Amino acid sequence: MSSPAPKIVIIGAGLAGLACARVLARSGVPFTLLESSNGVGGRVRTDVVDGFRLDRGFQVFLPAYPEARRVLDYAALDLRPIFRGADVFVKDRFHRVADPVGHPVCAFKSLRDEEVVSLRDKWFTLVLRKEAFGLKEPPRGLPEMEAEDYLREFGFSERMIDRFFRPFFGGIFLEKDLRTSARMLLFLFSMFDRGGSALPAQGMQAIPDQLAVALPPGSLKLNTPVAHVRRGEVGLDSGELIQADHIVLAVSEDAAFRLLPNGVVSMPKPSRSTTCLYFAAAEADMPLKDPILHLDGDGRGPVNSVCVLSRIAPEYAPPGQHLISASIIGMPSSAELEDVVRDQMTRWFGSCVNRWRHLRSLQVRHAHPEARQLKLGESSLAPVIEPGLYRCGDWCEDVSINGALLSGRRAGEALLRAIGEPV
Ligand SMILES: Cc1cc2nc3c(=O)[nH]c(=O)nc-3n(C[C@H](O)[C@H](O)[C@H](O)COP(=O)(O)OP(=O)(O)OC[C@H]3O[C@@H](n4cnc5c(N)ncnc54)[C@H](O)[C@@H]3O)c2cc1C
Repeated sequence: MSSPAPKIVIIGAGLAGLACARVLARSGVPFTLLESSNGVGGRVRTDVVDGFRLDRGFQVFLPAYPEARRVLDYAALDLRPIFRGADVFVKDRFHRVADPVGHPVCAFKSLRDEEVVSLRDKWFTLVLRKEAFGLKEPPRGLPEMEAEDYLREFGFSERMIDRFFRPFFGGIFLEKDLRTSARMLLFLFSMFDRGGSALPAQGMQAIPDQLAVALPPGSLKLNTPVAHVRRGEVGLDSGELIQADHIVLAVSEDAAFRLLPNGVVSMPKPSRSTTCLYFAAAEADMPLKDPILHLDGDGRGPVNSVCVLSRIAPEYAPPGQHLISASIIGMPSSAELEDVVRDQMTRWFGSCVNRWRHLRSLQVRHAHPEARQLKLGESSLAPVIEPGLYRCGDWCEDVSINGALLSGRRAGEALLRAIGEPV
């Protein structure tokens, strides 16, 4: 008589949990995926408000991500490319920085504008390209160093670091001091270089949704918060206890810390946060014509970047309307935040901003775990915590969609090995 299938519970239906579930499902191994919220995606979710698609914080997808290429169907995501470069606001006007490979004509036209990128910086950008060529993950062989120091040592001017790298990568790392690991900088540079950035036509939520539709029927339980995890046991908020032979924690680092008994995972460092203000505008009030990122090159803030999402994917707004995201690093507490943001936008885009309609302000307190961004160490966190207990999530690899997907697969494969299934 064959022994009964081991009982497997995955906690958290963010990208890591979904990627782990995908591995098990493809091997025909049954599991239960518990998610506390009312939908899948974790930090990658989209709300539809008055016909506008509001991602939960400004975020983009990098099609060159190796793990994403492996697990996602790009054609079905209907990816819409974002201009490779940025319009950088410096001294009362925008200066276009264009990738010479993606937009050669535009790059040639802006060759003599050295307000952001000097000719020398352009040369160093080509050298950086060579350095980052072919990376599939953050290069762990590169000596650990903060991104800003790396760029300076590389030869880039203070002007380019302050006016371009600081708002561009600061907006990704969610910190403007560029203290994040140079390894992460190089990896992301390589990803942008190879595949640019894009948005799924229906919003970022399309990414987790695509993974979720492939789950076996009945395996996903939404609105099911877990209260604690002990060896072989998952306790729900409802009081119900679930016995499990294998438990995968696919939650954020701080959630894992709270769910497990003391000392099993170490105390997380504070998270990095971000704020996003969404505005709606009619076509007549929309002077921004391109699917491009607008950056705060002066560093006066509070808004670090602005993007007209409906120029990238018209599906983000109802017909005849536009959706604008204004993204801030951190969570400023000003009661007049909307007014302050409007003032900055008016300086950037003119009086039409008075007619933009504020749709929603979103604050994401735990956007990025601090530790993995700052110091990647020699290797990723091993997926097996102890026999029968696994972890995955961006805090185990690197903080990105790619890192979350990769860590989920690694946890799923470790589990398959533990139960004697082929990987
Ligand atoms: C605003 C913002 C912008 C970003 N921009 C980008 C970008 O442009 N490009 C990029 O590559 N990455 C970006 N990221 C990072 C990327 O989104 C994350 O690294 C990734 O989504 C993390 O996935 P995860 O599965 O590890 O964690 P999470 O998405 O946090 O998933 C954890 C899941 O566990 C659930 N959970 C937690 N506690 C419990 C519990 N007790 N019981 C049951 N379920 C629980 C949560 O509800 C959640 O669904 C951004 C993140 C944010 C927030």
